[in-house]
Amino acid sequence: MPSSACPECAESTVTTGLREPWCPSCAWNADQTTPVLFGWRWVDRRLHRVAGRLTDAQFAALADGPLSPRAMTVSRAVTLTAAVVLLAGVIAVAALGLWLIFLDFFSLSTVLGLVLVGVAFLLRPRLGRVSDLAGQGVVLEPAQAPQLFGLVERVATAVGAPAPQVVMAGYELNAFTTAVGVRRTRVLCIGLPLWATLEPQERVALLGHELGHFVNGDIRRGPLTQVAETTLGRVAHLFDTDGNAGDGFIGYLTAIITRALGWVVSTVARTLQLLLVWTSQRDSQRAEYLADELAARAGGTDAAVSLADHLVMIESIDTVIRREARAGNGMSAWRDAARTARANLAANLPVLRRLTRHTEVSLYASHPPTGLRAEMLERRPRQAAAVTVAESDLARIDDELAVHQKRVLRELTH
Ligand SMILES: [Zn+2]
Ligand SMILES: [Zn+2]
Repeated sequence: MPSSACPECAESTVTTGLREPWCPSCAWNADQTTPVLFGWRWVDRRLHRVAGRLTDAQFAALADGPLSPRAMTVSRAVTLTAAVVLLAGVIAVAALGLWLIFLDFFSLSTVLGLVLVGVAFLLRPRLGRVSDLAGQGVVLEPAQAPQLFGLVERVATAVGAPAPQVVMAGYELNAFTTAVGVRRTRVLCIGLPLWATLEPQERVALLGHELGHFVNGDIRRGPLTQVAETTLGRVAHLFDTDGNAGDGFIGYLTAIITRALGWVVSTVARTLQLLLVWTSQRDSQRAEYLADELAARAGGTDAAVSLADHLVMIESIDTVIRREARAGNGMSAWRDAARTARANLAANLPVLRRLTRHTEVSLYASHPPTGLRAEMLERRPRQAAAVTVAESDLARIDDELAVHQKRVLRELTH
């Protein structure tokens, strides 16, 4: 790799991962791509630096301090309080509406009441359904994949998590858990492209991380966070009217006043929502470190670290998997291609890890930079694998999943 000396520290620069040369030693020119938050460059840059400082401070606090799921952080307290207040507000609007409807049936107040009930209905919290996830993967039946369900069960026990009620084979190079509906049905979705490219213990670590989200005190899994993050957005949308100017002077005046009021309400709501999302994302980043800790407990620290490094290299892995998929090749080819890509990138890994501390930092990010996740695992006390699997066990699981391979291939190549 051609390199020139860094103007700040005189170490050699690299072009790994970025268009222009940057310095892995002092991070000179590492922030070439600041995420666009407002579109004003100086504001975006300043907020990017704020996000960087918050990310570094959180890393430092958690690396040497306690990492407990039950700790009440400021960001969590703010998110939960906001959710309760917003929920109470929606209920109050509904109650006021009902009261107005029956106050003097049928009069102007009835109409106003109906409007308020309508607004409350539009602002109601939505808890989601399993069927909403249909576009992301296929729901697996325990009878179709007994080996996979068995492994999920073992890992759940190891990390002290309840087993998921729905397991899905996903189409994407990722994995996630979520909880849906009033009864918070626990869903685990394992993206086959990701699953196929992981080594045996890394797969255990992945399950440990995902199931860990059911016990890491992750407030995103609770119905209240959803209220906090979406209600204000709906309020903003509701008032975001550009009402047409009516006839005559009075109509014109009414339209201007309505528009001005709408603008004020929607801007205030949007700003508060932004602050709330930024706040709750701090807590989610903490939850990710905790889930990684459980990944290490399940699959061992080494596997959890190499899983994180796999994610550091995910773009290159994505490229080679899509290439294989376009050639019509299935899961075993994806794994071989990913192995080759990882081996080729191994020497660059420290630099790639370092770079994530710039490219993956954002106030909107739900996850800490992947490089820091790997480093956090290395800094925390080492853990031995609670669940070990043999290649042969995993080969049986792959046979169970292979029936969905065609579908995943279609989704990957379309
Ligand atoms: Zn430098
Ligand atoms: Zn996670």
